[in-house]
Amino acid sequence: MTTKPRLLTGDRPTGRLHLGHYVGSLANRVRLQHQYESFFIIADLHTLTTKPEPQFIKEIPTYIREIVLDYLAVGIDPAVSTIFVQSAVPETYQLNLLFEMLVSVPRLERMPTLKDMARDANIDSMPFGLLGYPVLQAVDILLPRAQVVPVGRDNQSHVELAREMARRFNNLYGEVFPEPEPIIGDVPLLVGTDGQNKMSKSIGNAIYLSDDAETVTKKVMGMYTDPKRLRASDPGTVEGNPVFLYHDAFNPSYAEVDELKERYRLGKVGDVEVKEKLARAINVFLEPFREKRAYYLAHPNIPRDVLANGIRRMQAKAQETMKLVREKTGLSYSLDLFTDEVDIFGNEE
Ligand code: ATP
Ligand code: MG
Repeated sequence: MTTKPRLLTGDRPTGRLHLGHYVGSLANRVRLQHQYESFFIIADLHTLTTKPEPQFIKEIPTYIREIVLDYLAVGIDPAVSTIFVQSAVPETYQLNLLFEMLVSVPRLERMPTLKDMARDANIDSMPFGLLGYPVLQAVDILLPRAQVVPVGRDNQSHVELAREMARRFNNLYGEVFPEPEPIIGDVPLLVGTDGQNKMSKSIGNAIYLSDDAETVTKKVMGMYTDPKRLRASDPGTVEGNPVFLYHDAFNPSYAEVDELKERYRLGKVGDVEVKEKLARAINVFLEPFREKRAYYLAHPNIPRDVLANGIRRMQAKAQETMKLVREKTGLSYSLDLFTDEVDIFGNEE
């Protein structure tokens, strides 16, 4: 019996994980997994909010595999952590329906992420399910009754909604859910290599944790820097410059970074040198992940067992929560529950 507080967070299976995922959430997961009973959800049902067509559903298994490999590669330890797939836990659908009753449409329309999600999906008429995306995320968080949720800044408003859903449920029916707290990463929102948008799978501005050294170097050499700087002898701006944001996040040599910033401000270093040093730093950072990923890729039984065991563990946890939910709400009719207490027909005299 474990008495540790619980943690839930996860990712949609829409691609491999990138540096933004790492600094926003994965690093905290690896750090916190021994302190908390940790649940990592691969949220496949969320992908249906914008892509319900069968050809997209067909892509999901490949990405599930990639994400499990990424998790294991960065150091998520399956001995203490649970990795599972959302659609393998049927209680998700059940709790989602109940939660839908506890939130208003205007509240969901005010979610700051809604417009972005619709725009990214090229959608002009909002599906019911997309409006309900944050409700489903609240279900993900509250199904294992998680207290903490390590996420990037873009997901903070969703955790806030999960807190409200927990409060509302508990007020109406009695205490079942804790009010979860977000834990935001060291770099709350990593910008992409384009320097314009957050790093994202869907925009083509991402450096993946599984990119090989050559790919990383190519992406870094093509990065956006200070647009006002035309030659190496022009003084450059360090603040907000993506190349230096990345140096701060991934280059462990503060001395090297400070020295480069100093010379950049004075116009005494070219972009090429700054980028070459960055590419080297990122490659050193990623190399241990690549090695572990290659190992698990060559030993597919390990990730397969990890996922199968994770699904079993989460199914058990979800059943436990739904039992509480049924007890508290009184929605507990089933054949074996027609006891004296709940028998609506009463007894024959
Ligand atoms: P992408 O935006 O790359 O398509 P996604 O939206 O599918 O990814 P989510 O599942 O929304 O990814 O995010 C997974 C986790 O990673 C969330 O906690 C999110 O806040 C975090 N995250 C995603 N992108 C970034 C980023 N660029 N910087 C910091 N954190 C990020
Ligand atoms: Mg996102």
